[in-house]
Amino acid sequence: MTTPATPQPGAPVDPYRAYNFKLLINGITNGHFTEVSGLEVTIARRAYREAGNDRIRAVPCQVDYAPVTLHFGLTSSRELWDWVQAAARGTVNRRNVSVVLLDAAEASARCAAEGVLGATYTPHCAVVHPAKLVRGLARAVERRGVTIHERTQVTVIRAGAAVTAHGTVRAPVVVRATEGYTPGLPGQRRAIAPVYSLMVATEPLPAQTWDRIGLAERETFSDHRHVIIYGQRTADGRLAFGGRGAPYHFGSRVSPAYDREPAVFRALRRVLGELFPVLGPEVPVSHTWGGPLGVARDWSASVGLDRATGLGWAGGYVGDGVGTSNLAGRTLADLIRGVDSGLTTLPWVNHRSPKWEPEPLRWLAVNAGLKVMFSADAAEARKGRPSRRAAAFSRLLGH
Ligand SMILES: Cc1cc2nc3c(=O)[nH]c(=O)nc-3n(C[C@H](O)[C@H](O)[C@H](O)COP(=O)(O)OP(=O)(O)OC[C@H]3O[C@@H](n4cnc5c(N)ncnc54)[C@H](O)[C@@H]3O)c2cc1C
Repeated sequence: MTTPATPQPGAPVDPYRAYNFKLLINGITNGHFTEVSGLEVTIARRAYREAGNDRIRAVPCQVDYAPVTLHFGLTSSRELWDWVQAAARGTVNRRNVSVVLLDAAEASARCAAEGVLGATYTPHCAVVHPAKLVRGLARAVERRGVTIHERTQVTVIRAGAAVTAHGTVRAPVVVRATEGYTPGLPGQRRAIAPVYSLMVATEPLPAQTWDRIGLAERETFSDHRHVIIYGQRTADGRLAFGGRGAPYHFGSRVSPAYDREPAVFRALRRVLGELFPVLGPEVPVSHTWGGPLGVARDWSASVGLDRATGLGWAGGYVGDGVGTSNLAGRTLADLIRGVDSGLTTLPWVNHRSPKWEPEPLRWLAVNAGLKVMFSADAAEARKGRPSRRAAAFSRLLGH
């Protein structure tokens, strides 16, 4: 059992803190859990053709529910406790239960964005300052005797060598970890598509504004629109807010100039104001920046090592590489040392994604996809139901 959270000035009081999946049994007994898995329903389909009609339709048939598992719970209900204990001892007593996600009021208590209908929440999410992370990592490897050569472009990677304008570095293993910049290397033009993500940050916001917005525990947030947006409250009290939506550049070109798209910054500022009207008509943006993400053709990140050539790789994280690149690094360390571990048997190890289409198809597909997703978001906002064009295009793009 945890003790109730101590109310902080301006912070919402949440006696269950991170226990945000509510379990209701027959609507009476309840408990709260931090994690839930298995909320899946599989509906088999069967081909069906009406007499006199050539069209074959798929009709739903058997419905299978996956086992639902709740982790880390607390309850004040004796009845729920006894039920769980009895099940643990092997006495199965089936009940009808409901797993409830955050409702609109609970979701708004965490993040009071405009029009919130509900939310899922995971307490296992951390915020990091990426520049501090990179500097810390650099210091850590330098302490271990590594020399880092910044501003040294590798022009060719081949077995046993990384070639630069200043000389060739030779090593038994060469790892390509160049993410969105990968197409610039010979032979890699179609390996990864660079897709840009751009961000804005507000001036530090006053305490009264934060009282209205929430994010009291510096929760990160996103919604389920197709053109992804994401945000967080920074340590110094700013709202850092980003999103996709910048164009893909022909030939997978990458340039520092593409990190700055005034139209995208304007759109981010507008969306931020729509989500949090308390920021006023002129959202006080003080910083703007961006950079390329790496997207594989099947949207699957991978890490691997070809033992025959000593060439290794890691990447294709789309926009989730901060944690994943750490996992990739630890996995590569085991692969390179020849250690069989829990990491080296993960499904993404040595996964080979297909290549992207040659240009101009790649340019057409990625930019058309962007347009479709923008229009699908607008249609969903208007009609209040999922857009079929977004689902169809996502399948086409392998997402
Ligand atoms: C605006 C923005 C917001 C993001 N937000 C998040 C987030 O909230 N959470 C999250 O998990 N991820 C986020 N990401 C994605 C995350 O930053 C990346 O997934 C992550 O940085 C990938 O790490 P990496 O080391 O593989 O590649 P990168 O960080 O892209 O580093 C690649 C490095 O390789 C160098 N390089 C490339 N080519 C060459 C060459 N030929 N020779 C020498 N050096 C070369 C580059 O200079 C660069 O330093 C965001 C990205 C952007 C742009």
